[in-house]
Amino acid sequence: MVYKRSIRVYSEEEKEALRAQKDLPPEEQQCPVCGALGIRRYFTMFEGRTQPTIGSQTWCPVCHTFTGSTGPALGRVVESDPMKDDPDAPRGEGGQAAMEAFFSYLDRLWDKGLLPQRITRR
Ligand SMILES: [Zn+2]
Repeated sequence: MVYKRSIRVYSEEEKEALRAQKDLPPEEQQCPVCGALGIRRYFTMFEGRTQPTIGSQTWCPVCHTFTGSTGPALGRVVESDPMKDDPDAPRGEGGQAAMEAFFSYLDRLWDKGLLPQRITRR
C-alpha cells in the first residue's frame, strides 16, 4: 500500500503522553498521534564532547511520528547497535524520503528482533 504521509516529530504535549507510559512494555504504549500500540525505540552510543553519550529515537511504526534525544551515558552501555554495524544503513539526513527510509530500516531491525537493544550498567 502506498499513501502519502509526512513524517514529523512529536509535539511537547505528545511527548508528555509518551513519557506517562514509559513504564509499560513497548507493545502496550500507545501513539498519541494515530492511536497505534507498540511504540519503538532505538539506542546508539557515541563519544560526546565530554563523555560517552546515548542517543535515542522513539517512533511509532504506523505513522512514523518520532522524537529523538541524547543524554550522558552515566555508566550505561548499549550492548549492540545493528545500525552502526551496517555500512549501508540509511542515516536519516535529508528530507521526508530520507526519514522514511531511516524509520523503515529501523522497523525491519525491530521485526527481526534486533531492537530494542539491551542497556546494561557498568
Ligand atoms: Zn502513530
